[in-house]
Amino acid sequence: MNLCDIKTIKETMAMFGIHFRKEFGQNFLTNNMVVEDIADACCDDADSTILEIGPGIGSLTRELADRYRHVIALEIDRGLIPVLKYTLDGYHNVTVINEDVMKADLPTLLAPYFAKGKVSVCANLPYYITTPILMLLLESGLPFDSITVMIQSEVADRLCAKPGGKDCGAITAVLNYYGQPEKLFKVSAGNFLPPPKVDSSVVRISLYRDKPCKPQHEATLFRTIRAAFEQRRKTLPNALSAVFGELSKEELTEIVVGCGHSADIRGEKLSIEEFTALSDALWERIQQKQ
Ligand code: SAM
Repeated sequence: MNLCDIKTIKETMAMFGIHFRKEFGQNFLTNNMVVEDIADACCDDADSTILEIGPGIGSLTRELADRYRHVIALEIDRGLIPVLKYTLDGYHNVTVINEDVMKADLPTLLAPYFAKGKVSVCANLPYYITTPILMLLLESGLPFDSITVMIQSEVADRLCAKPGGKDCGAITAVLNYYGQPEKLFKVSAGNFLPPPKVDSSVVRISLYRDKPCKPQHEATLFRTIRAAFEQRRKTLPNALSAVFGELSKEELTEIVVGCGHSADIRGEKLSIEEFTALSDALWERIQQKQ
């Protein structure tokens, strides 16, 4: 059974009396080569466990199961569970769970697999919830080896942007703190059923085991990044003053200049290393005042 064949997808869904659910971002892949390329790219260790988010009718799930030790597939749509039981019949290394990834207890669910070896994430993500899912995975503190996701091309450009570029956003800086993102390849809208309005790209994030940036206070780093990008047209001291109310404009200017920047620099120009140094200086000044 070729799960990327449009006729097969339609017949299988009709057999189970289900329809594409737009609210769950259901755009299924219809190109075997793309599915195989994603499965190949997501991991270089066959002994890994793969967490797949949103298996749909199981096309990528099968390719992952053929390559890696175990696949845990979380699917929010209850209607797809009997379909997956049918399409994954005989795949003994796949565990399908009917759950919303945003509500799942990932640490408990994945603990036995982390104990056995590497765990990576692979998904053709639903567009409506891409950034929240990525943030959830990154902030979970779970030691994933890598995260490979198909996402809207525009979002991929933002994730992989260089500091200071027009595509750079708060998510770019935060992502660079956790790992190294890399855009692998583009997939045009014609490779999905139903076709979405935009093209997609596959991005792999290789996560740091030992993060190169070690802020004194992680929450202050994220607060600094948020401040810089919330008011990105303002100079950095002005943008910071909207979020760091406990410090005066003069103090903020002094801290920014003390970190080696001009007072009229915009926050979007800073690299993750520079954000970390700035957040340390802000944290120290806040501590001194308490
Ligand atoms: N993997 C399939 C493929 O590539 O053809 C389907 C990908 S489709 C873009 C996204 C999948 O994610 C759908 O199956 C959808 O039901 C599921 N999904 C959407 N939101 C989810 C959530 N919060 N948790 C788990 N699965 C979700």
